Amino acid sequence: MQIIIIGAGAAGLTSAAALAKAGHSVKVFDPNAKPGGVLQGWQADGFTWDLGQLLVEGFGKDEPSGEVFEALGCAEDIKLIKDDRRYVFPDFSIDKPAQFQDPKWRIKFLQQQFPEDAKGLERYWKDYLRFTRLMTIVRQMGKVSGLSLLIKRMQLLGLMLPFAPRKDWNSQQVMEDYFKSPQLQAVFISILADFFTPPSQFQGLGVFALNPEPSFDSRIPKSIATGADQLFYYSLVGGTTSLVQALVNVIEKNGGQIYLNESVSRIILENNQVKGIETSSGEFFSADVVVASGGAKEIFHDLVGKEYLPDEFSQKVVDLPLMDSVFMLHLGLDYDPSPTTDGVCTYYYRTYDIEGSINESKTGVYHQGNYGFVIHQPSRRSPAMAPNGRHAMTIYTICPDQLAEGDWESQKTNFTEQLLAYAEESIPGLRAHIVTIITMTPLDFKHITHTSHHAFGGLAPIIGKSGISHQTPIQGLWFVGQQSEGGGGLAAVIPQAYRTAQLILEKSNQN
Ligand SMILES: Cc1cc2nc3c(=O)[nH]c(=O)nc-3n(C[C@H](O)[C@H](O)[C@H](O)COP(=O)(O)OP(=O)(O)OC[C@H]3O[C@@H](n4cnc5c(N)ncnc54)[C@H](O)[C@@H]3O)c2cc1C
Repeated sequence: MQIIIIGAGAAGLTSAAALAKAGHSVKVFDPNAKPGGVLQGWQADGFTWDLGQLLVEGFGKDEPSGEVFEALGCAEDIKLIKDDRRYVFPDFSIDKPAQFQDPKWRIKFLQQQFPEDAKGLERYWKDYLRFTRLMTIVRQMGKVSGLSLLIKRMQLLGLMLPFAPRKDWNSQQVMEDYFKSPQLQAVFISILADFFTPPSQFQGLGVFALNPEPSFDSRIPKSIATGADQLFYYSLVGGTTSLVQALVNVIEKNGGQIYLNESVSRIILENNQVKGIETSSGEFFSADVVVASGGAKEIFHDLVGKEYLPDEFSQKVVDLPLMDSVFMLHLGLDYDPSPTTDGVCTYYYRTYDIEGSINESKTGVYHQGNYGFVIHQPSRRSPAMAPNGRHAMTIYTICPDQLAEGDWESQKTNFTEQLLAYAEESIPGLRAHIVTIITMTPLDFKHITHTSHHAFGGLAPIIGKSGISHQTPIQGLWFVGQQSEGGGGLAAVIPQAYRTAQLILEKSNQN
């Protein structure tokens, strides 16, 4: 088959690698000068920073993305270090013990901090184990068939039953059921700020998925109870560009071509069937299959055209629940700020009002770091990402894609100063050590992702809403990536893009 891939981000590259490896003619187009989408990294003055990645989940051997890399033959090229993240709240921080104690150390620590909720924490832990068993079975189900599959389905049903009365609850309700303390509730749902999803709009039982214990301590054993296997978090050695290069190598080794500085401006159809694409330089390339990634609105309304789409599908594109953007500082430092930062990735929360802070952001008001920020120091794991003796650090906050008042460009300098001032409250003296600073606003991210609205993790996981289906109403047109039904984050994007490629191959074998 002649296959065109729109977008050289994680999704496009994964699908391209799988389809090229299966022996098909693959051409990838992307308007950026470098492949990777938000994984393309950023370089200046000898420093390298990641744009769209902190820690990645499930990249190890026998884990979902790790299995994809194994199948593509590039697992050996993706070097990983098991890692974890630290959480700092206004009154306390969650720090892993110097020596590994037991898988339940975080729960025990929280029981000391919130004695009135000790019983609720016990109940939470029991349900966490049940949820982990449930997820273990879901992963195993994808690998078995026949009688084994039937048995797994029955086991799954048995595990789901006790959750049934709470299946329609939102995460705020689930939190209130476990804990009295609003602070403790915030500990378990604070990461929703990164998803631009207020707790009242997030699936209640999803709170277990928001709090995988290995993300707080990478030394936790894989299996925490019989049949309850967890996935681990990792730093990518060499940063995200190392992952991009590994995928590019698979594509090129298998004869695929990557066209950079070239966007697709139109998807050409005939009788509801894909015929090819036209590029920004006006060239036509014929195709049996087009796999598109990037913004759903741009792909379907601009490149295909509403007139070729069923109304219901077109409306779904308009109604897609998208996240908003990030305001990001890349710093080159002339010192190592640890132990103040203590770890490669720290989430600093300066409020417990997660619902209120997300809702405020959604109205176009930027908090400038007052509600919190995330710090990532990739050079702690990959010293080559900074010159000798120096360190690369990224500080980011979530922010509205569009400001209610003013614009990003004119307020960029003030916002940079304000965010540094907040960061300095946690890392005293930081500013005196900055030798390089790059500020990125939603405008930069819109440019990199080629979208009119920057949604930094793609779809917001809002109850009852879903992304665009991989198989579209147009014959031969498929959609992958963080705005598709598979959702955002690399742990979702890579396996779904690979599975979609397998589906395309199955379909072509049937024809
Ligand atoms: C700051 C930040 C932090 C993140 N942190 C994490 C994290 O800790 N863990 C995690 O798992 N995920 C994280 N993510 C999310 C994760 O990086 C993304 O979900 C994933 O990389 C998205 O991949 P994608 O291929 O769907 O999209 P993109 O990377 O946006 O790639 C889409 C590509 O399509 C191209 N394109 C668009 N239109 C066209 C066109 N017409 N023609 C040709 N090409 C086109 C764009 O130029 C772009 O290169 C983070 C993201 C950001 C921004």
